[in-house]
Amino acid sequence: MVLKAISFDLDNTLIDFFRMKKIACERVLESLIDVGLKVDNFEETWKKLVKIHLKEGIESNTWITRFLKEMKYELKDIYIAAGVNAYQKTRDTFLDPYPNTIPVLIHLIKKGLKLVILSDAPRMKAYRRLHKMNLYHFFDFIVTLDDTKVKKPDKLPFEMVIKKLKLKPKEIMHVGDWPVRDVDGAKSVGMKTVFAKYGVDKYRDKIGKTKPDYTIKNIKELINVVDKESK
Ligand SMILES: [Mg+2]
Repeated sequence: MVLKAISFDLDNTLIDFFRMKKIACERVLESLIDVGLKVDNFEETWKKLVKIHLKEGIESNTWITRFLKEMKYELKDIYIAAGVNAYQKTRDTFLDPYPNTIPVLIHLIKKGLKLVILSDAPRMKAYRRLHKMNLYHFFDFIVTLDDTKVKKPDKLPFEMVIKKLKLKPKEIMHVGDWPVRDVDGAKSVGMKTVFAKYGVDKYRDKIGKTKPDYTIKNIKELINVVDKESK
């Protein structure tokens, strides 16, 4: 069966959040120091900040407060204000796709494949991220949580993609970084699966119930996967 379409998860599959978070934490710490925080060891303190940030997720601002508490720093309003400002500014500037993403997407389109996005993010967030990274034009359509109302690995989001593409499940390959949501979910409807191991968050489950058809450590490996599947 020849492959006809690829469905991509967005966060941590196309978007390199990890890079952005590391840079953001550096800027946050610099900003806290600028308003008076005394830091003995920048590197060690930065590592601690990254760790707390990865655990708390990107949407919440509580991680800066938690960091100050855990490090036994004073909870000054100016620290939180400076940290939140530095974070928001950096987040908007450094939201980039993983290296090699654009040439890979161009290659896939040249091969005649349809590309779509299947994300558990709210619709406007997904659109803003895609637009910000200049990736919008590569995709035929975007399916988000606002369309599906349920998150992956529920079958419904995947079934919605199949229906919109008017293809058979086995003609579609889903690429994602979350074993349970992306791999198990896509497998359950009969899609081919690619596990984007490079995007794995170490604070999350690493293994799902099913084995992915392919595991890639860099998005450019997708070219070989697709070549194999297209034979
Ligand atoms: Mg993801």
